[in-house]
Amino acid sequence: MTGSPLTRFAPAPTGLLHLGHVVNAIFVWGLARQLGGRVLLRIEDHDRQRSRPAFEAQLLDDLDWLGFVPDIYPTSDFRRGPCPSRQSDRDAIYAAVARRLAAEGRLYGCTCTRQEIARRAGRQTSAYPGWCRDRGIALDPGVTWRVRMDPGEVAFTDLLRGPVRQQPALTHGDVAIRDRHGNWTYMFAVVVDDLLQDVDLVVRGVDLFDATGPQIALAALIGRSQPARFAHHPLVMKGPEQKLSKADGDTGIPELRRRGMSPAAVIGHAARLVDLIADEEEISAEEVARLVRLDQLASR
Ligand code: GLU
Ligand code: ZN
Repeated sequence: MTGSPLTRFAPAPTGLLHLGHVVNAIFVWGLARQLGGRVLLRIEDHDRQRSRPAFEAQLLDDLDWLGFVPDIYPTSDFRRGPCPSRQSDRDAIYAAVARRLAAEGRLYGCTCTRQEIARRAGRQTSAYPGWCRDRGIALDPGVTWRVRMDPGEVAFTDLLRGPVRQQPALTHGDVAIRDRHGNWTYMFAVVVDDLLQDVDLVVRGVDLFDATGPQIALAALIGRSQPARFAHHPLVMKGPEQKLSKADGDTGIPELRRRGMSPAAVIGHAARLVDLIADEEEISAEEVARLVRLDQLASR
């Protein structure tokens, strides 16, 4: 990463912004500010069945209220209507990249369901073993579109976790880029967007750690010459095994606002939940760089 990095905050409008998102925002803005970089806002509504305009409107309001200000694509850009950083407005871009992959013989149609894959592969797995690779199934709507991934290891250095090696061909197999409902997948949309929006620093929760190897491999296939850098941070846990989810309404930002918490109290509380600070305190969005000092975090 040379020069000032560009990172992104990329929520999916499939639920309310909650404390887990606030932790992510602390790391995204904190690392960006510390490294002299910028933050881009992207609305990841690739899943057309689960995304809701009302959730998007609410999360834009909550982000403004918290005081996390994107340097590129401020919230007002999304409120105006179509926006180049909203995935549902980027269909033509994904289609063009898919056409190029298809022309290179990288894509094939797949009719396997998730259950079938889990059953026939004999384990609970999301790795797709490539059964449809040579069946000549056309890339029609109604079938899954998959990329032929090459075998091999992906190595990267996580800014917070150190050196990592992953085997995307073994853990994920041939990555789906479009599902049978016609949605571009998370994997594909995020890789295309990070490349075409010049994002070179990806800061996200450790729940997406395993997605990184496949994303680096897929990015190379669509023409990325230099992989992005990655930092995977801890999650807010509901219990020892269970991460917080959108269903946990009591941590939703609108509810915390209703209870009368200030933005700085919410940010401080989120920071406390992942042990970035020892005691509850109020921390404004402008101050978060001091919470995520790379020299201290990387050695913990
Ligand atoms: N949109 C994803 C989410 O809400 C985050 C994507 C990413 O950081 O790669 O969990
Ligand atoms: Zn198949």
